[in-house]
Amino acid sequence: METILSAIEEKRAVLNATADFLWDHPETAFTEFESAKYLCEVLRKEGFTVEENIAGIQTAFTGTFGSGKPVIGILGEYDALSGLSQVEGIAEQKSAGGEAGHGCGHNLLGTGSLGAAIGVKAWLEKTGKPGTVIYFGCPGEEGGSGKAFMARDGVFDGLDAAFCWHPDEVTKVRTNKSLANYQILYKFDGIASHAGGSPELGRSALDAVELMNVGVQFLREHIPSSCRIHYAITDTGGFSPNVVQPHAEVLYLIRGVTNKIAAEIYERVNDIAQGAALMTGTRESHKFIKACSNIVPNTAIQQMLQEKMEAIPAPQPTEEQIAYAREITATLGISPKADMEHPLWWEIGAYSAEGQSFGSTDVGDTSWVCPTAQIYTTCVARGTPGHSWQWTAQCKTDFARDMTIYAAKVLAAGAVELMENPELLEKAKAEHKTRVGEGYVPPIPKDVKPTAMDALRK
Ligand SMILES: [Zn+2]
Ligand SMILES: [Zn+2]
Repeated sequence: METILSAIEEKRAVLNATADFLWDHPETAFTEFESAKYLCEVLRKEGFTVEENIAGIQTAFTGTFGSGKPVIGILGEYDALSGLSQVEGIAEQKSAGGEAGHGCGHNLLGTGSLGAAIGVKAWLEKTGKPGTVIYFGCPGEEGGSGKAFMARDGVFDGLDAAFCWHPDEVTKVRTNKSLANYQILYKFDGIASHAGGSPELGRSALDAVELMNVGVQFLREHIPSSCRIHYAITDTGGFSPNVVQPHAEVLYLIRGVTNKIAAEIYERVNDIAQGAALMTGTRESHKFIKACSNIVPNTAIQQMLQEKMEAIPAPQPTEEQIAYAREITATLGISPKADMEHPLWWEIGAYSAEGQSFGSTDVGDTSWVCPTAQIYTTCVARGTPGHSWQWTAQCKTDFARDMTIYAAKVLAAGAVELMENPELLEKAKAEHKTRVGEGYVPPIPKDVKPTAMDALRK
């Protein structure tokens, strides 16, 4: 353990610089060129063998060290979110001058996982034991599900286990499952015409979008209550109400407890889209953008991570850091978790029972391929909504960086435990086998390629 902790401590400056570089270069799904390049350079400097262009995705890469079994993967993310540019370390909304921002803290995520890989490498070097650690540079988590494309193409197939983490408002082992999702772009083509002079000659694609949305609204009552259907109208046809809109698009995000349930809802939404086309005399077509699977938890590894979290000293916030968190809390308005008395929940949480969260993550796809476990560390004030300017503002602070280093230590210690403890790894694998039943069926069809978020905008 000491080898791992001191190796990561020694790289504190490199890791902090990495987290800050990623924060300063926010790039959205599948356009993370600067971020991927930077991370690859750090991996090379640290002695990893880097392979780029993984699964045909330009911003996906791996950094490998060691040889033989077990092979442990550490998942890194580094994509940002559009519209969340924000000046760091302040408690008021102010753009940093760009467009995108790290409103999910993936600048920390990618860096903490890198630190974990460095820690495992140090242990492998010191002990000379067999084992391989692979840092997976996974792009496009937000709206792109990069890992689902990578999993579909077999990138994680050789892994014995995988680890990931996420910046959060609490410090604990993740035990919750997530929802699977499908993201589909529905397009309608109609006929333009003068809306006053010759409306009978027009066929409105915008009407089709509206009717589709109404149809889906009625569908919502007849799906399991744990499912979700969201949408964004990405093309309304134009700005002229005196034109019958000849083209319109709506982007749907459909979530279900399992891939199978999400797929069933997707089929029904397709029927509604066709119905809307029939009602309006327009043509409907749709493009499969991406999908991701629900998380398969792994109790064996999660419980081991709980022990590591409790054994490794966690950073404690300074009065100044707590005061900043309180300033952020004051901006949270109706957030039910906002807590002025105790704005930073940095203490390690107890191991909790397996529950259901209603978001999604493409870590789900890795978790279908091999035993996978995740932790959260407190990087933001309690109650901070994900994907908000407040989240971006807090992901380039000393406390968030310290909690990133802590995450790196816990994951590295967990990975090394699996290398030293074959019985535990076997137990985790047996649990995984039981949980996945007939195994992983990639939710993304073979011919679908990743879509950059920018390409969905007009
Ligand atoms: Zn996110
Ligand atoms: Zn995230």
